[in-house]
Amino acid sequence: MRYLGEDGVERHFYSAHFDNKAITVLPWGSDLFDCVVFICDLACLNVVADKLAGTVVNANTDYVHVVGPRAEWFHDLVDATSVCIGRQAHVGDGSPMTTWDEEASSLHEMARSASALHGGHDYVFVWVVGSWQDFNKASEVLSVPLKEDMESNYNRDYQCPWCDYFSIDEPGTQCNCRVCGWIDDGTAFDRLDTYSDSNGLTLRQARANFRTIGACDAKHLQDVLSPEKRDRFRHVARSHP
Ligand SMILES: [Zn+2]
Repeated sequence: MRYLGEDGVERHFYSAHFDNKAITVLPWGSDLFDCVVFICDLACLNVVADKLAGTVVNANTDYVHVVGPRAEWFHDLVDATSVCIGRQAHVGDGSPMTTWDEEASSLHEMARSASALHGGHDYVFVWVVGSWQDFNKASEVLSVPLKEDMESNYNRDYQCPWCDYFSIDEPGTQCNCRVCGWIDDGTAFDRLDTYSDSNGLTLRQARANFRTIGACDAKHLQDVLSPEKRDRFRHVARSHP
């Protein structure tokens, strides 16, 4: 099993080569997760299809997306297997939810399809059906859209006046800064002692709080990013004269 990385909405992607052996231990334990099946080799699919469909529906999968040639056929098999083990009463009942994408034929297209997955869980498991070489290549290609997604999601155009990270899309939208928790009411960096009604404190107080506790206000401590995750935003420290 390989850890591929995180996307822009903090979903963690893992990949594994499916070689007729079910994976019983998952890093996230018994939590529900979403799953993508990459069909890289039809001959391999014919050998492992029943076993893989059984593995997918016996695991705590909430959503299964199949990409590559014969994706629709395999997706039907997952639904039928789910009925067979009693997980759902009829094909299409949605346990797990299933979708497929046969248009995605190259590894790059398959990777795009996987990273655009609609499932809502924190962990996404990608099973690669093919040779070990296919698995290595697929894992490498898959980490690219994840990285791009993460970077586009984290790097913003505007600098937060409270924590100095580039975490703001557009000033004054009343959204919380992901780094310090400030409600973006459009306060300018030079209005150091102006009281912010939205936040209940001044910029001077909030900047001091961020330096000492890591959030503009203690009430936001639970919602802000950890110091390690802050590094994804560009940061240029500023000080007042
Ligand atoms: Zn901030």
